[in-house]
Amino acid sequence: MMNETEMLKKALEYIDASHEAMKTLWEEIVSMESGVSDKEGIDRVCERLKKELEASAVCTTVVPMEQAGNLLKGEFHGERPQKPILLIGHMDTVFAKGTLEKNPFRIDEQGRAHGPGVLDMKAGLVIAVFVLRALEACGYDKRPLRVMFAGDEENGHRLSNAREEIRAVCEGCEAAFNFETGFEDDGLVVGRKGSCRVVVTVTGVAAHAGNDPQRGRSAILEMAHKVIEIQKLHDFDNGLFVNVGVIKGGTVPNAVPGSCEIQIDIRYESRERLDEVLRKIRVIAEYSHVADTKAQVSMSAPSEVMEASGANLKLFEHVKRAAELIGYGEVSTKKVGGWSDSCLASACGIPVVCAMGVKGAKNHSMEEYALADTLFERAKLALASIITL
Ligand SMILES: [Zn+2]
Repeated sequence: MMNETEMLKKALEYIDASHEAMKTLWEEIVSMESGVSDKEGIDRVCERLKKELEASAVCTTVVPMEQAGNLLKGEFHGERPQKPILLIGHMDTVFAKGTLEKNPFRIDEQGRAHGPGVLDMKAGLVIAVFVLRALEACGYDKRPLRVMFAGDEENGHRLSNAREEIRAVCEGCEAAFNFETGFEDDGLVVGRKGSCRVVVTVTGVAAHAGNDPQRGRSAILEMAHKVIEIQKLHDFDNGLFVNVGVIKGGTVPNAVPGSCEIQIDIRYESRERLDEVLRKIRVIAEYSHVADTKAQVSMSAPSEVMEASGANLKLFEHVKRAAELIGYGEVSTKKVGGWSDSCLASACGIPVVCAMGVKGAKNHSMEEYALADTLFERAKLALASIITL
């Protein structure tokens, strides 16, 4: 039997020998437009990757979605008794159809790759595919692997049941690696904030501003007090972001406004933190500065949060050791505000490290770029992390 060191060496050699094949697949799937509302495009990427996975002993299933891109899941040696490792990715991008023409796939002389979704996260899909190939090629025989490529991550799975599918895929896993957008400073994401939307509506008494203003109860004035109090809950240093982002109230200048509404976005690092801020908002809503005004609070279902928990940090420490083992260099922990499927996996209770994908910057914009050579480095980092786990 081969030992871990030999296996890893073979796996890394496999990546070294696959540079052209990896770049070719990267170019091919970046050149298939798959904006989040372009089901046809996403499904095309899905079919392409399904073929690619099946070529390396992965049993795949396409989960059809009616109004969103399909979801691709796969199992690699599911018969092995140990707990599986999950590889996460998404096939949709934020770019509308037609973007490719203005921003085709290309690698410039500084080694930066461009194109819609080149960084977020088509490169990550390529990494996941070749990690599985390398595992097959090097004779890895320890754990089963699972793979989950969502077709509608960029809209938070709003039009599909992907959330349930992903939860099911996460079940029983030892750990998950998400090949989302990597950072140039080699920060790996161990925490992502959850988000929640809250609407506060104040009802006052509308009245003619010239004839009987004394009868009026200004909903805008009441809301002005509340906005200042709510905005004071913002606690940047402690990772709690509260933003009153929209205010609507009144009808015409010559009427005391009878109603006013605000919309608040809250980002939090733990569910406890969110519950605490929601409690405070309710207290603020209940207390009236302007007599006879009333407030109502409603909120969206809060999204899952990837808490920078001990489990994620422990998995990160493992990745850090793997990085040292192969001479990758320093990696560090990072906490970010944006949501990803890692939040879902984390909420299922499995350790997750996110942003394992190719390194780059400016995702979700036309200036998005990826450092092309990191495609190989990051595949190696993932392989070292997996083989030694
Ligand atoms: Zn992404």
